[in-house]
Amino acid sequence: MSKEWRWTRQRKKVLEALGARYDHPTAEELYGELRTKGEPISLATVYRTLRSLEQEEAAQALHGPGADRFDARTDPHYHITCDACGRTVDLEMAYQSTVDAAARNAGAQVRRHLLLFCGRCPDCAQAERSEPDAQDD
Ligand SMILES: [Zn+2]
Ligand SMILES: [Zn+2]
Repeated sequence: MSKEWRWTRQRKKVLEALGARYDHPTAEELYGELRTKGEPISLATVYRTLRSLEQEEAAQALHGPGADRFDARTDPHYHITCDACGRTVDLEMAYQSTVDAAARNAGAQVRRHLLLFCGRCPDCAQAERSEPDAQDD
């Protein structure tokens, strides 16, 4: 099996595994999933593949607190890392292109911006609102 062929195959497997998830996994989480499925891949290869997918803009990295998380969704969208459940989820809100315009006004050459909110995800915020004895402090 040629090196090139193996690389192409591993790249495809990583992208498939990433594309099937909506929870923005870390490289280690993806690695764990691929190994569980019996894929003969190393953690270093998973990292390398994710970085190259990021460079080709076939995936995006979220550089937040803790390990980088990866997303197969590459259209500009926002995320929140939840204090309560620990997940990093997509936020359904419009991309604020005025932020890019403001950065251009400050003299920068901008392709786009990334925003990672901190707080409670919509699910946890909702659960908290409907929890009757949430104010027990
Ligand atoms: Zn949450
Ligand atoms: Zn996302």
